[in-house]
Amino acid sequence: MIYNGIDFDTYFKNYPDQNGYFGKYGGCFVSEELTKAMQEITEAYFTIAQSRQFIAELRRIRKEFQGRPTPVSHLERLSRKLGNVQLYAKREDLNHSGAHKLNHCMGEALLAKYMGKKKVIAETGAGQHGVALATAAAYFGLECDIYMGSVDIKKQAPNVARMKILGANVVEVTHGLQTLKEAVDAAFEAYANEYHDAIYCIGSVLGPHPFPLIVRDFQHVVGEEAREQFTEMTGHLPDAIVACVGGGSNAAGFFSGFLNDPVEIYGIEPLGRGPKLGDHAASLKYGTEGVMHGFNSIMLKDENGDPAPVYSVASGLDYPSSGPEHAFLQEMGRVKYDVINDEETIDAFFELARMEGIIPAIESAHAVAYGMKLAKQMSHGSVLINLSGRGDKDMDYVIEHYGIR
Ligand SMILES: *Cc1c(COP(=O)(O)O)cnc(C)c1O
Repeated sequence: MIYNGIDFDTYFKNYPDQNGYFGKYGGCFVSEELTKAMQEITEAYFTIAQSRQFIAELRRIRKEFQGRPTPVSHLERLSRKLGNVQLYAKREDLNHSGAHKLNHCMGEALLAKYMGKKKVIAETGAGQHGVALATAAAYFGLECDIYMGSVDIKKQAPNVARMKILGANVVEVTHGLQTLKEAVDAAFEAYANEYHDAIYCIGSVLGPHPFPLIVRDFQHVVGEEAREQFTEMTGHLPDAIVACVGGGSNAAGFFSGFLNDPVEIYGIEPLGRGPKLGDHAASLKYGTEGVMHGFNSIMLKDENGDPAPVYSVASGLDYPSSGPEHAFLQEMGRVKYDVINDEETIDAFFELARMEGIIPAIESAHAVAYGMKLAKQMSHGSVLINLSGRGDKDMDYVIEHYGIR
């Protein structure tokens, strides 16, 4: 399918290019020392990870440990209530550890094992990526250092406990604002010193090349399964698909199964409390081009051009940029990016729980809210939503801040 001059038959061969660019977005903006480390990972990825043995082992792990394939569910009662459009959900909430993140963490940790590394290193904000990577590290018997700001450590006690139970070493970052940005810097610094024995495992389709490529490819399983399952269930493709976008990993993997199909694709960013800078994390909608954390993309900046403060009710979506591939797909018009605010998200959170018996992650509830909106606007057809994770982690927060609706 040719769309806006891009041939989506050969898209995955051409994007990103050899230097990690999706059009003008992406690249590898790191120190000389880290450039060597990135080249080592890139080389390993294109040899080891494409080998028959690696692919077979990852496939077996996905089935026997992660519990894949995750199902596609028809949201029958919710669809009936909204009108004539049929809503479906790809159930990443049923992936082991409760979200899509384990898909790329298992791939990254398996790559570490094949490369002979002894340790995986990462940063975490809300702790979800830290828990997923600690899970993978325990499975493969790798050491695991997770860098986390002091403020986040206090706020995210249950995830800190999970990481420790899984055997990870949580390294407290005590400088600056003591949150995600400082944790990223500290983790990269540690990696520059340790890359002979360790590998950095990024949490989304972000960071310097080759991470946006690697994470998308390890998440491709979501889109591939969803397309096959949906067409088997219904005999046709969905008219539209929807996923939430923070860094953009669940969306990138899910979308990658449908880019070459006549399917409308929607990526949903968090509008939080509203469009004022600081009240949201809708970077693709309100941001401008810029380089941060080693890659060029669309980002939200403050008056000095630094990454701006962001906010969302969903802690997994509050990042001031999105992966370079999303910036590119937006520019090409292949994916439409839109926003959902906190209120709509919480409504959708309860609606899915009450109508379908599924408590979604607040991140995923952004996609559910948009799917419900589409269902009301369309006269017929079908919408497939990527339910990126389960809401167990969010229940205390929702009850405390919103009560029972
Ligand atoms: C982390 C997280 C997200 C956001 O990350 P992406 O890279 O944008 O997918 C979305 N949903 C859940 C459940 C998460 O844990």
